[in-house]
Order: sequence, then C-alpha cells, then structure tokens
Amino acid sequence: MGNYQLICPSCKTEFTGYTLSCNCPTLLRTVYNTPLKLKSLPGLWRFLDWLPCEKQLDTKAGSIVYKSLGLAKELGLTNLHLAFTGYWPERNAHNLTGSFKDLESNSTVAWAREKGVNALTIASAGNTARAFAHLANHVEYDAFLFVPESCLEMLWTPEPPTENIHLFAVNGDYLETIETANKFCDTKCVQNEGGAKNVARRDGMGTVMLDAAFTMNRLPTHYFQAIGSGTGAIACWEMATRLQTHGWAGNPTLHLSQNAPFVPIYNAWKANRRQILPEDMPNAERSIKQIHAVVLSNRSPPYSVGGGVYEALSNTQGEMYSVTNKEAKEAGTLFESVEEIDLVPAAEVAVASLIQSVEQNKVLKDDWILLNVTGGGLARLKEDFGFYPIQPEAFIRDPNQNLEDILT
Ligand SMILES: *Cc1c(COP(=O)(O)O)cnc(C)c1O
Ligand SMILES: [Zn+2]
Repeated sequence: MGNYQLICPSCKTEFTGYTLSCNCPTLLRTVYNTPLKLKSLPGLWRFLDWLPCEKQLDTKAGSIVYKSLGLAKELGLTNLHLAFTGYWPERNAHNLTGSFKDLESNSTVAWAREKGVNALTIASAGNTARAFAHLANHVEYDAFLFVPESCLEMLWTPEPPTENIHLFAVNGDYLETIETANKFCDTKCVQNEGGAKNVARRDGMGTVMLDAAFTMNRLPTHYFQAIGSGTGAIACWEMATRLQTHGWAGNPTLHLSQNAPFVPIYNAWKANRRQILPEDMPNAERSIKQIHAVVLSNRSPPYSVGGGVYEALSNTQGEMYSVTNKEAKEAGTLFESVEEIDLVPAAEVAVASLIQSVEQNKVLKDDWILLNVTGGGLARLKEDFGFYPIQPEAFIRDPNQNLEDILT
C-alpha cells in the first residue's frame, strides 16, 4: 500500500493512482505516515520514505547542500548554505541535465511506473523537458515533450537520444505550449505529467528542503529561490511543514524572485492580491523575450490555488523580488568567481535576490539562510558528456490546429 495517502486538503477525499486533482481548487497532497529515516541510497533516493514511489530508479540525481564560504564572506553572512542541483561530480552532484528538474523527473517517472502509467506528456519551457528526455533515455520510458520552438536549443541529452523521446516544438510561448500539450493528452489518451499538480514532482523537488534540514541539523530561517511557476518553492514549503509535523522547529520564510521585466507573481504579491491580473504582465510576449532566465516565463503559475504560491508566501511572511538581467548576470559572475561553479540564468536570479535582501536588511548576518541555486555546472558537464540535440518529431505551427493531422 505504500506509506502515504494522497489527499485533497479541502474535502479530505483520498485518492489512489496517478491522480492530479479533485474538484476543489486546491492542490492535492501526500501525507506520509512514518517518520523520515534516511536510506543509504544515492541522491534524492535517500529520502525515499517521503516520496510517493516505493522503489528508486537507477540514478544519482539529487541536491547537495553545503555551507558557503566564498559568497557568504562576500555578503557578510555567517550561516549561508547553498543547495546546488546541477552537475559537480567532485562534490557528488550528479544531475545530468544540470538543473533541479532532474529531481522532479526522477520521482515522477518512478511513481508513474508504479501506478501503471507507461508514458507521460510534459509541457516545458526547456529544463523540465530536458530532464525528462534524459530519463526517458536512461530508464527507457516514453516521454512526449512539448516545448516552445524558441527554447529548442535547450533540448539536448548527455547521451545520444533514443526512440523513447518524442519531442514537439510549438510555435508559441510556454502557456500556448501547455495548452497544446493538454490537447494532445485528451486526443491521444497519454497521461499528463501535471506540472504543479503532480505530487511526485513536488515531493521530488522538496527533497532540497530535507537535504538542507539534515545537513544544517535544523530548518533554515530563510529560503531563496527564483520562480517561474513556483512549484519548487511550494514543494520546499510543504516539506518544511511536514518536518514541523514531525517535531522540527522553525518556519522558513520564502524569498522568491522573478526576472524583470516579466514579473507577474512579484506584481500580484506586491499589490496584495491573490489573483494575477493582466496588468501584472503588461506586454507579456515582449517581456518574456527580454528576460535572461527564460525558464521563469510562466503566464499561469499556481499562485491563487489552495496550497499554491500565494498561500506559501502568506504562511511564511514571504518576500518577492524583481531582478533585472544586469543584476542577474553580475550576481552570476560573482558567484562563479567565489564558489567556483557556473550557474544557469535562473539560479543567477536567485543569487541576485539574496544580494538585494542583504542590502535591504531583510536578512541578518547570522540568520540561517538556504539559497537554492537551481542549476549549474554545465561547463563541467560538457567536459564529461556530449550535448546531443534532440530532433523534434513535428513542428506545431499553430497551437490551435488539429493535432490529429500531424501526430501519428
Ligand atoms: C524551473 C526552474 C526554476 C523555477 O522553478 P519553479 O518550478 O518555478 O519553482 C528555477 N530554476 C531553474 C534552473 C529551473 O529550471
Ligand atoms: Zn477536494
């Protein structure tokens, strides 16, 4: 039966199988009945007790958490910890597509397989699709991947792509790509991975908070992350609350950042609203094209939904930050020089938000801070692996066109 229940926190209905939602506007949640005992397995599988799958996959994906020396000194912080989810084998970080999307792909595919789901459809702005593509290769699992055409260059695998990967390039932005993928699921009866609604995805990403708690031997006071959808932030908040239920003290404040000029969650939060309105993303299309961290470009994030970003921020007295491209790039350069590993653009945004926070005295010198640098080490990855481009099976020119015509 497994050691968890899948429950709607609103109506308390319990679900089995690969279920993404009930009729309530609330994210479903896993409730783990046993305390977490660490397993001697690699990567995120150490936290298997608090993942919905029963068995691990043959991978080493997972976060590493360590106390910062370089950046901490630069910012005058004494208890800054970094969660790194890229590739850095010397430090035991083996995320072969270079981002924390490797955590969610692993827990999701493991869970889906156990629930008898033999293929998944995934819409992505790039990093998620890359993570699932690699895993599709590695464990021979069919993945139908939809990405905006403009993000195709992010679609590579560290080993030559196999027939388990089915890539579709959509002529549209991330939201239109999500809609196209949804239509594909309905037409072709392939299970939708589910994004933020997928508890396996969230619990996989939430292992970062578990890793941090066990490394620091306490919960952090502050958690920093760059967000597009905010799924990773929701996940870490949920994990912190699970730890509280099991006797851990503390309630980490969420410090979440977006990349200006595309900052819908920042604007809605600053206006004290639970809804994102069109005015929160003026000239959305143009703004999305301008941002340095394209993976942060979600136009319909799980913000208002019960258990979503708004509640996570509210419940932790959270803060939102707006980071310019220039700030992000400068933060990235600083980080690389003092921590000796390169970051992906979204992680640079998170570093810049910490710098803002220190400047505005929102964190104090001795606070226990967890900075989630959500991806990096691509330069190091390139030394060990090839970057094999994935060829799309089809280009979807018009997101409204009939998918039956193009997909066999
Ligand atoms: C997806 C992604 C994010 C944003 O994650 P959320 O799902 O919005 O929490 C941040 N950094 C990187 C590298 C990503 O790939
Ligand atoms: Zn319900």
